[in-house]
Amino acid sequence: MCENCEARLGRRAFLGLAGAVVAAAATGFEATPATAAGGPKTELTADQALQKLKAGNARYVSDAQVCAADLGGQRHHVAGGQAPWATVLSCADSRVPPELLFGGLGLGELFVARNAGNLVDTGVIGTIEYGAAVLGVPLIVVMGHQRCGAVAAACDVAVKNATFPGSIGAMIEPIVPAALAVKDAPGDLVVNAVKENAKRTAARLIDQSAIVAGLVKDGKVKVLPAYYDLDSGKVEFLA
Ligand SMILES: [Zn+2]
Repeated sequence: MCENCEARLGRRAFLGLAGAVVAAAATGFEATPATAAGGPKTELTADQALQKLKAGNARYVSDAQVCAADLGGQRHHVAGGQAPWATVLSCADSRVPPELLFGGLGLGELFVARNAGNLVDTGVIGTIEYGAAVLGVPLIVVMGHQRCGAVAAACDVAVKNATFPGSIGAMIEPIVPAALAVKDAPGDLVVNAVKENAKRTAARLIDQSAIVAGLVKDGKVKVLPAYYDLDSGKVEFLA
């Protein structure tokens, strides 16, 4: 087991000793034993969580070998409750699994929502609200990525009036305004649209969630857009 895993597991063991269910009273969102996962929340602030994501991504870029984590041990430590320290809304793209590109994180670390184009709908907003208000996650990252197919499709709608079958057209509709906003900007259209979409999605999350907006206003939660470069492996935080 590597040093990182050891430190992580040690902390999990310590956290596992406490068992209080803490209500997120400030948001009016009452956690009950029936809805909360139980157990303590993370002790990290949003800024500490961000530093941890940055360090993990640097580890992934410099030494891509996934840590041989003791998954069985981790499972044991988190089976009774979770205290994730960052939420990542990421694309469904098979090349962007958040746990891996943030340095081989283990069970119980990240709260993750994924769909094509890393968009917010009712399910995603509710998921993120649960993470922030009930589980106490201090950092929410909306992460787009290089060569995103959903964003490329939205760019085709924006500049070529392309159409897509089934539910795909409706799914990518929220990305089209982002593509239109940057279609005349210098540089690569899809890269620019991915970044614009991540920024707009982060803003939309706050606009559409009174719970997240309240936590941001109180300084308890940060929401950051980010861009993942498939070639370099680097995550760039956009705010
Ligand atoms: Zn994508």
